[in-house]
Amino acid sequence: MDKIPYTLQRSNRKSIGFTINAEGLKITAPQWVSQAIINQAIQAKKTWIQSKLLQWRQQSPTPTNWQHGMPLPYLGRQIIVQLNPQLASCRYEGNYNLAQDNDILYINLPSTASSHELKSACTQWFKGRALAWFETRLHHFGQSSGAKPLQLRLSSATTRWGSCSANGNIRLNWRLIHLDSDLIDYVIAHELAHLKEMNHSSRFWTEVGRILPGYEAAKHKLKQKSLHTLPIL
Ligand SMILES: [Zn+2]
Repeated sequence: MDKIPYTLQRSNRKSIGFTINAEGLKITAPQWVSQAIINQAIQAKKTWIQSKLLQWRQQSPTPTNWQHGMPLPYLGRQIIVQLNPQLASCRYEGNYNLAQDNDILYINLPSTASSHELKSACTQWFKGRALAWFETRLHHFGQSSGAKPLQLRLSSATTRWGSCSANGNIRLNWRLIHLDSDLIDYVIAHELAHLKEMNHSSRFWTEVGRILPGYEAAKHKLKQKSLHTLPIL
């Protein structure tokens, strides 16, 4: 059976309950119910669970309305996209390393541009910013902790923020650039710690803390974010 990821919560209820939302599957089970019984319950409900999960994946995120004046999240702020055919390339009004709400991202396209063209121009800009931002932060952590990946690549995974391979390559989801910089720092510190500890043992978390002291708050905040709630770029 394909493994369906879920979070399990024990409660005083009398039967096993299933909830599915943008965060995925949550199972609530009485204290006395064994893992084997939970597995059986999942198996019995498998078709229903999978169709509900699929529904969520198709429903969310809310489709982005690609047009002049649309807001997009960038480094935790809402920036505004505007079309400007006079420009030779995209231009950011404000300081893109210190984004503020309502900063303007000018896209060098005419007002007749299709939503597809606008989407691809925005994606390209966001990916470029993501790579530059991640490289800067990796360099910063490399200097303070000595942890350095062999290679950094952007990923477009739909289910994970980052990953680290045994040969020392780190992949970071470019859509992290939508989030607050402290959340991005946490994901980077997490993957850098995997260069030393390829597991989630207490030694691993000590290493995360060495790279990014006080990472717990960002870790907690990131749990409330889902890749499915970000705009489709
Ligand atoms: Zn990990």
